[in-house]
Amino acid sequence: MRLKDEIAFITGSARGIGREIAETYAREGALVIISDIKIEDCEATASELKAKGFKADAFACNVTVSADVDQCVDKIIEKYGRIDILVNNAGITRDGLFLRMKEEDWDAVINVNLKGTFNACKSVSRVMLKARKGKIINIGSVIGVMGNAGQANYAASKAGVIALAKSLAREFASRSITVNAVAPGYIKTAMTDKLSEEVKNKILEVVPLGRMGLPSDVANVCLFLASKEADYVTGQTILVDGGMVMY
Ligand code: NDP
Repeated sequence: MRLKDEIAFITGSARGIGREIAETYAREGALVIISDIKIEDCEATASELKAKGFKADAFACNVTVSADVDQCVDKIIEKYGRIDILVNNAGITRDGLFLRMKEEDWDAVINVNLKGTFNACKSVSRVMLKARKGKIINIGSVIGVMGNAGQANYAASKAGVIALAKSLAREFASRSITVNAVAPGYIKTAMTDKLSEEVKNKILEVVPLGRMGLPSDVANVCLFLASKEADYVTGQTILVDGGMVMY
């Protein structure tokens, strides 16, 4: 077991990639904190994991509200005493060509993806800095590396979380806390289910491995970054995109 008895807090983990990361960590012995906006969703996912014999708990938290994040982290610490792993996974899209992009679509995406990551890093790093131990993983996107027409807000937010990982990696290195980013390509989840078949086929033309990724493809890289095997890896961005971007 690679994460035996570690406490892992994963934002936006009631479904999609976050849920898969939680289940992968739980399978490796971690106690996973399922966190999402609605407590019913968190509890439903935590119950499913517990029914499989895994250790899971549910705490609601809207990452855009710093007081909410602080309160959630306080409750986790009160109950479990520490947080060893933080995965900043909560994310949304509000796509549109730039000239037509509304200010509220810009703000919504930056608030959840970038400010939300800031809020969770801020709150959890207090605990990790005291413990002189921790692994932080920001879920970026290949779009944050290459940009994309129609996703200026999303690309800017994801470039932001990648740069935030690098900066925190430098600030926290002396306390043995690593901070990395994972940048998925096109992964089969509710977020990409809404794309038309035509768009999906166009995407596959530029994916050398010729298929969309699975949430497990992303979760396995997050497992490596959370494990002891990655103790000497920090400030990095690992692309999980079937070879779409090579650099
Ligand atoms: P989903 O939409 O399936 O899941 C995102 C989760 O985040 C949902 O459970 C959602 O809750 C939650 N969430 C949204 N806003 C907040 C908030 N303010 N506070 C807490 N939780 C919130 O997305 P994916 O699983 O596909 O994506 C997960 C991450 O991976 C995101 O950061 C995304 O940008 C990134 N990514 C995904 C790719 C893909 O192809 N799918 C590609 C590249 C990156 P609710 O259900 O209540 O809305």
